[in-house]
Amino acid sequence: MIPRPFLKNSRRALLLMALAVSSPGWAAEPGLNVVASFSILADIAREVGGPDVSVTALVGPDGDAHMFEPTPQHARTLQRASVLVSNGLGFEGWMARLKKSAGFKGLESIASEGVKVRTFDASAQAHDSGGKGDRHHHAPRDPHAWQNVANAVIYANNIAKGFAKKDPAHAAAYRARAAAYSERLLALDAQIRRTFAALPPERRVLVTTHDAFGYYAQAYGLRIVPARGFSTQAEPSASDIARLVDQVRAQRIPAMFIENISDPRLVEQLARETGATVGGKLYSDALSPPDGPAATYLLLMQGNTATLASALAAAAQRTP
Ligand SMILES: [Zn+2]
Repeated sequence: MIPRPFLKNSRRALLLMALAVSSPGWAAEPGLNVVASFSILADIAREVGGPDVSVTALVGPDGDAHMFEPTPQHARTLQRASVLVSNGLGFEGWMARLKKSAGFKGLESIASEGVKVRTFDASAQAHDSGGKGDRHHHAPRDPHAWQNVANAVIYANNIAKGFAKKDPAHAAAYRARAAAYSERLLALDAQIRRTFAALPPERRVLVTTHDAFGYYAQAYGLRIVPARGFSTQAEPSASDIARLVDQVRAQRIPAMFIENISDPRLVEQLARETGATVGGKLYSDALSPPDGPAATYLLLMQGNTATLASALAAAAQRTP
């Protein structure tokens, strides 16, 4: 005969198991189900969420969020999420429609809320008013706010607030992780400032074909030479290229850079025709894959800074 207390206990254990199995999501990924619009936000969300969240990025490593076209699979992913982390500032032009088709009922945390917004300069807008396929110049607000590391502190805090609202039991943990991460961000921010301060001012110049680096340039004292009218989408005409060649020569640009999300051919051609150095690859709007050099946001900003600083320091000073 089985002793009574044992029976009682085993019944309780069975009941607990049944409760656990039937609770939704128990067998799936643990923690708060978070969807981030693109890889950089997903990384910041993982830093803040730690083991209390599971994060999926809609636009993954080396992906171009500007050109993203969501599929029904993406809608299903978003449908299951409790929290959506987006950049805002018009970066995810496809988001409103995706949320609607997913019937998303969760909480949206807009990471850039509260940053000092930079606007694209008016001359570039006028210049491109007739252009087709340009992604950026028609948008008044520059969405690439994460390119200033100090803004990523705001991102982390906004994300922590969103997580805490949806998952109050772990609110203190989210706050603590955001604070610890912010310390690392501010240390990197100071390091980037020191790096460029050590460079002669005339070498602090940046040309790329996608103006993702406005916040970076503003924060760290670089002068941006916009390669106007280009996007990852539009094919530049011969006269566009001739104009850019003149621009690079006239402004004695020492080095140019390709981007992980853009076609490198235009920059390579410009460098060939002007004698500027191709200074390496910059990561603008996406992380590298996990085994690459920009697998996290901190590594991305660190790597871009090292690439820029060493190329700008090494390139021979050119005469027009
Ligand atoms: Zn961009």
